Amino acid sequence: MTRRESDVLILGGGVIGLASALRLLREGRGVTILEKGSAGGACSRGNCGTITPSHAMPLAMPGAIGQALRWMFKPDAPLRIAPRLDFALFEWLLQFAHRCNWDDFRRVTTAKAKLLRLCRDALEESVRSEKLDCEFEAAGTLNVYRDTRAFAGSDWLPRALRECDMPFEVLDGEQCRAKEPALNANIVGGYFHPRDAHLRPDRYAAELARAIRAQGGQIHESTAITGLRMEADRIAAVRTDQGEFTGGEVVLALGSWTPQLARQLDLRIPIQPGKGYSITYSRPALSPRIPLTLKERQVCVTAWGSGYRLGSTMEFAGYDSSLNRTRLDALRRAAGEYLREPEGTQRVEEWYGWRPMTYDDLPILGRPARVRNLVLATGHGMLGVTMSAGTGLLVSELVCGRSPSLDLAPLSPSRFNL
Ligand SMILES: Cc1cc2nc3c(=O)[nH]c(=O)nc-3n(C[C@H](O)[C@H](O)[C@H](O)COP(=O)(O)OP(=O)(O)OC[C@H]3O[C@@H](n4cnc5c(N)ncnc54)[C@H](O)[C@@H]3O)c2cc1C
Repeated sequence: MTRRESDVLILGGGVIGLASALRLLREGRGVTILEKGSAGGACSRGNCGTITPSHAMPLAMPGAIGQALRWMFKPDAPLRIAPRLDFALFEWLLQFAHRCNWDDFRRVTTAKAKLLRLCRDALEESVRSEKLDCEFEAAGTLNVYRDTRAFAGSDWLPRALRECDMPFEVLDGEQCRAKEPALNANIVGGYFHPRDAHLRPDRYAAELARAIRAQGGQIHESTAITGLRMEADRIAAVRTDQGEFTGGEVVLALGSWTPQLARQLDLRIPIQPGKGYSITYSRPALSPRIPLTLKERQVCVTAWGSGYRLGSTMEFAGYDSSLNRTRLDALRRAAGEYLREPEGTQRVEEWYGWRPMTYDDLPILGRPARVRNLVLATGHGMLGVTMSAGTGLLVSELVCGRSPSLDLAPLSPSRFNL
């Protein structure tokens, strides 16, 4: 059987694996990425590409369960839990529910805000220093409301943003339209987040892969990991359908697929695939200049020079790979409620991706207790693109044995007894 050796083996070629590889190369380490499909071809491809330190608040908050229950019987609601017998999902939901209180909300917001600030700066630095041609723009993002009661009911948001020192502006409907003329007359108000940015995610992943190869890194695409071979407390080899690979250090960055492989190491990783959808179009003549979140519908709108995307919705339906027409149509309907020109003339692609969701909405970043040469870099949920370069920096510090740029305790695998 073929056997190839590397300094650091990275399992998974999404934005997290790619950004980690690029940062390790900068530290002078050798890297090999193993990817069953194509680099950046899974959840990292058709997402909305917003870089949002403003999303420091976790999903789990008081009122979230009531809202989820009200949405339960609406097939086109922003959140859907497909009814089925799934013990791991049930346990995940229980843990999520347990965290729907203000103390946990504040604790996670504080930790996440620190991480997101580091990640936002690391991403812009990486785009500029590596000359990643990915339509990056630091234009902020705008969250808009069309329902006066919903806008008034979002008063917890400015409070939470102020507490974690995240800049924002509160705007009325007219001010929203002045900032973003693509919005229609229904808009009653919103929040502008000046530190946010956006990029084209498929271009970003392709550019990361280009830079890795240019700097001597190896990316093995169409290489499915099938198992692990242990020697005492170390991973001695990674088995794939293309033979065995060995590495002094192993970084596990398999996104939503993490739990399957980790089970072989006796690690029970609480990640559920949170399915989201997007529709990509040619650019409408009146495209938004600033990425938008259409708040009542939780739909994100991003425009680049090269295209236009409606995306989002969260569906817990296991590893179901079908395209749900009702949920795709909900994206289009939402755009029609908020935008003067909601769709481009040409529909280029309909897409789904599985977000790797932890129930506390923080990624898992660190070494598990029982496997000496393993770093976990997974569970980035709704913010993997935003957190990619910062995660790469932190992974490289862990692998190189340097003190981390951030206190990693809130992200540690030990919080899940790993
Ligand atoms: C609709 C939608 C909109 C989103 N919008 C945003 C946004 O605006 N901003 C933001 O920051 N984030 C956004 N996200 C979230 C973001 O896309 C994810 O957090 C991120 O892509 C996760 O990256 P990853 O590298 O962990 O996972 P992935 O990109 O899924 O990468 C994991 C890789 O592992 C590979 N793999 C799995 N099993 C194996 C195996 N056995 N052998 C080899 N390889 C394997 C897979 O093929 C895959 O390429 C969005 C997600 C969705 C669905």
